[in-house]
Amino acid sequence: MASLFKRSIGTLGGVGPKKQQLFEKLGIRSVGDLLRYYPRAYEDWSEPKKIAEVPDNTAACVKVRVENAHKPFVARTGTILLKAEVTDGDDMMTVTFFNQRYLFDKIKDGGEFLFYGTVKNNGIGYEMLSPTVSETAAACIHPVYPQTAGLTTRQIEAAVRQAAALLPEKTNDPLPEEILKEYDLCSLDFAIRKIHFPDKMEDAEISRKRLAFEEMLVLQLGMARLKGSSKKERASLKINKDYSDEFYKLLPFEPTGAQKRAAAQCINDMMNLSCPMNRLIQGDVGSGKTAVAAAVCYSAVKNGMQCAFMAPTEILAVQHFQSLSALLGSSGVRIELLTGSVTPARKRNVYEALENGEIDIIIGTHALISEKVVFKALGLVITDEQHRFGVAQRAALISKGDSPHIMVMSATPIPRTLALMIFGDLELSVLDEMPPGRQKVDTYFIDSSKRTRAYGFLKKHIENGNQCYIVCPLVEQNLSELKSAEEYISMLEKTPLGEYRLGLLHGKMKPKDKEEVMEEFAAGRIDILVSTTVIEVGVNVPNATIMMIENAERFGLSQLHQLRGRVGRGKDKAYCILVSDNFSAGTVERLGIMCRTNNGFEIADADLKMRGPGDFFGSRQHGLPELKVADMSSMDILEQTQDAAKKILKDDPELALPGHGGLRFETERLFEKTGGEQLQ
Ligand code: ADP
Ligand code: MG
Repeated sequence: MASLFKRSIGTLGGVGPKKQQLFEKLGIRSVGDLLRYYPRAYEDWSEPKKIAEVPDNTAACVKVRVENAHKPFVARTGTILLKAEVTDGDDMMTVTFFNQRYLFDKIKDGGEFLFYGTVKNNGIGYEMLSPTVSETAAACIHPVYPQTAGLTTRQIEAAVRQAAALLPEKTNDPLPEEILKEYDLCSLDFAIRKIHFPDKMEDAEISRKRLAFEEMLVLQLGMARLKGSSKKERASLKINKDYSDEFYKLLPFEPTGAQKRAAAQCINDMMNLSCPMNRLIQGDVGSGKTAVAAAVCYSAVKNGMQCAFMAPTEILAVQHFQSLSALLGSSGVRIELLTGSVTPARKRNVYEALENGEIDIIIGTHALISEKVVFKALGLVITDEQHRFGVAQRAALISKGDSPHIMVMSATPIPRTLALMIFGDLELSVLDEMPPGRQKVDTYFIDSSKRTRAYGFLKKHIENGNQCYIVCPLVEQNLSELKSAEEYISMLEKTPLGEYRLGLLHGKMKPKDKEEVMEEFAAGRIDILVSTTVIEVGVNVPNATIMMIENAERFGLSQLHQLRGRVGRGKDKAYCILVSDNFSAGTVERLGIMCRTNNGFEIADADLKMRGPGDFFGSRQHGLPELKVADMSSMDILEQTQDAAKKILKDDPELALPGHGGLRFETERLFEKTGGEQLQ
């Protein structure tokens, strides 16, 4: 099949230059790409159903006879409609076609057809709008492809049919025989043909499972190889002496065991590895990642290195600057801040001091990437909240040193199974212990009938000098986000909360305006912050004690946890109020978990179990190469492929054995599109 990846899609009949461009929009360049472009669903025409058999609002194929075809008529909108009553012998159904002139002569009384469409029971009877029509009883299952404008699923299908005919009699299977047997998987040959053109729906399932398995396995192998290969160069600067104990004396608190462990792991990497450190520090909000970063910076500086600490927003950079200055100010470590709003004159001073080695730790935003920033001896690069940075941005900062050590800090708890995969090239330290005295954020699930009481609760806290967040509900789709937030605020103004200072944050605001509102809130000049989208990551407002989330059912567990993490950062007891009128089993279970635990890793695990990895892979937030079937894969497949990858790499880490040639080819193909560096 490898050769089909070299054959251009333009060589297929009916694919001219124009179509070729449309295919390219879908990421399809070669015939091989096309065969690996899988249907998202199927139209099953193979077993026509009785009308009453089809569950309401479901697409199906029905076999019917036309009882009464009406005359086409022009609606006020200019659309030409054709209506017909049809029967399957037992039940009647009204069918409507729009603007399909070519059907007007065909749909005649007494004619027999197969219709494929969504059967709806509108209370009076059954109806179907603009079905696909077939006169012949061509019993078959049609693939339905994700489409792009100008290219229909039928046109894609026609091209795939040609491509499938080009498949050699027997394709080389990248999966070794033992793996196929052990995990009960079908051959690639069968899978590629049947995922497009199954004879029965079971075949499509079997094929999908096998292709998902292959894709996940290839991903894991690729990540593991990347991890191996990224370790070749040497770090130019090393830590010779560990100054952690000296640093801990500067802390106003006792470090937790987890903080000490994480810092020690970093320092150990920077002392003993033959390559630069490449480590991810994962810790829930409030677990004290900043102190870990400061500890590592301290030892690095004492060993003659400069450190760069990059945060995604100005306000976070300023916060880090303040906390590190407070910690290290007395120790003689020189710390500076560099953000977009620093004056040009001051910037020039900072550039000069950095180049001369007069600054030990520079904290900033992406302003650090500016080409004017030159270091004397950059030895350690730290990025906070990594998912906010593009790979290129991080790489640009890293390139300012000679193979510096890298530390990435993330506040998104990710289950270990996934973390191993996403951050396959990073070592992992987990801060799984909270600083002592941290209070649990008490969480309640209420329905909207109790909203007024909840407002009273907020009022009490505001009277007490605290602040609150309200995450605004999603309203009807035809209202813009801004409108919905404004409506919420004007509703709020009519309640007892109306007398307080209300602030608004929504997704359409410019980053600068958002930061301004956040600053106002942080400074205590806003009592209630109403927000439509997720509130800025990592911002610390210890005085905020209540997080109220409207329409809580529409958030995933991890999102709810992130939102709740905005409160409970100070000395006062904090609360989270989840409002929902949705009592479906899933919602009740999710919100129940939120009420039960505050542990981010527990929540992430529960989230993964409930939603499966598909949701995660579908979100495109993970920085992994684009996956095709994995989003349909199950937890089982994820775990199985983890085992399989381990076994394969144990005997053959480079995938050099002849039996692994196909897997090597596929890992290279998966990563070439992203240039590999996507995964850092
Ligand atoms: P995050 O992991 O969310 O970045 P921070 O580093 O901002 O957490 O720490 C949150 C708060 O906890 C800060 O006010 C910090 O001073 C405090 N803190 C950190 N570690 C400890 C500790 N071991 N004991 C007590 N307080 C701590
Ligand atoms: Mg932080």
